[in-house]
Amino acid sequence: MSSSTTKAGAVVCSRCKIEESLLVTRKEAFCSSCFTKFISNKQRKLMSSDKFKVKYGKQVNEIHKVLLCLSFGRSSLVLLDIIINLLKEQRSIHRGRQGFKLVVIDIEFKILNIDSFLSGSYDFERIKLFKDFNSMIIKDGSSLDEKFPQTVQELLSKCSSNSSVEDLLDIIYNELYFNTCKSEDCHTMIFGHSMTKLAVDILALTIKGRGSLVNQRVTDGIHTYQKYQVEVVHPLRDVLDSEIDKYLDLNNLMQFCDNNNDTNTTLAIKKLTKNMTIGEITRRYFDTLDKDYSETVSTVVKIGSKLIDPISEKNDEKDDNNGIQFCKICNCKIFKNPQAWLNRITVEEPFPITNDEERAAYEMYKEAALQISPDNLEEEEEEEEEEGVPQKEPISLCYGCLVTIGGVPKEGLDWPVRNQETQEILNEYILTDNGSDDDGNDDDNDDDGGN
Ligand SMILES: [Zn+2]
Ligand SMILES: [Zn+2]
Repeated sequence: MSSSTTKAGAVVCSRCKIEESLLVTRKEAFCSSCFTKFISNKQRKLMSSDKFKVKYGKQVNEIHKVLLCLSFGRSSLVLLDIIINLLKEQRSIHRGRQGFKLVVIDIEFKILNIDSFLSGSYDFERIKLFKDFNSMIIKDGSSLDEKFPQTVQELLSKCSSNSSVEDLLDIIYNELYFNTCKSEDCHTMIFGHSMTKLAVDILALTIKGRGSLVNQRVTDGIHTYQKYQVEVVHPLRDVLDSEIDKYLDLNNLMQFCDNNNDTNTTLAIKKLTKNMTIGEITRRYFDTLDKDYSETVSTVVKIGSKLIDPISEKNDEKDDNNGIQFCKICNCKIFKNPQAWLNRITVEEPFPITNDEERAAYEMYKEAALQISPDNLEEEEEEEEEEGVPQKEPISLCYGCLVTIGGVPKEGLDWPVRNQETQEILNEYILTDNGSDDDGNDDDNDDDGGN
């Protein structure tokens, strides 16, 4: 770092060479306003296309809407501040004109109630995972509607693991974000993810068995949601978490921050178990790296961005979408049959007992197991008894969702499944609406709650 000093001996900002430097990042000394400009420029670089520029003449009517996903987490707050300043600047320079309209969505703070997730055109289904990794919809003939959860909190309260809750919440947020884009007619959606948050997402997705989503999650580009096209941009993707904190500090924004993101839903989740979620563990890992090993963060993001969609395995059965199946919980593409794969790697049958020594050991084990958990041995019989009464119907789920509902207890997970008929009607309707011609199914997007 080449540093000059003021008369009083303070280090001078390396950009303007006038003001006193208040911080050093990426080996460069910044004053407050040069640093704010430095971060804002990163946003402008990633949102530099004509559609964000001020419109004149006939184009004024073509002004489009941009959805900002606000979580009141640190980075989404920085993004909101930068975008508001950009719009203010546009309006002052261009006499009240602006390049785009901003729509802000915040789910937790009830700009949009999270329970609206349950009010779409869905069929509630009870989904259960069996020992052979078969996933089924269970219909037991009773009037299920009354039993189904009325709020998202109720829906998630069945999960025994925090990570399952986190994973399902992620799916819910994602659905609500894209759904809002469509209902508000926003063709651009921006997330405040810092480079660190993107790195956390890449590792967490990989650990959760959702590696096939990494590419769509971390690269910017067009996503299709129910035939509706949305450009997803992460304007702060080149900004480190430590820089986000500095920006909040220097611009006095920390006070608006929901520091721990402890909102109603997340608090409720914390009560469920004390265990940390996969997301939290990964976040903690990167928190320890951020300052001294920022290259690691950028390397993870660079590698994640280079990953492409996996090659689809040929499915000979149940193919109703040009060979592509979609998960009925998260709506992602299923590239590989997870059930067949799980069965291949799992040993279900015990090794046969061959001598007396082994037999005696087995008897001892059985006795001990019975004392610890008498339910375990009765489980098989119970299931046999129940058989015949409820109707089962196979359902396609991705590997990540199989893992997640593995953390849901015996009776299964109640989940709003988009019904085929409604979906088809919806697709047709939207086709005539905008004449887009993509692959004809459901979403192939996935993105996460803003942060
Ligand atoms: Zn300066
Ligand atoms: Zn899924």
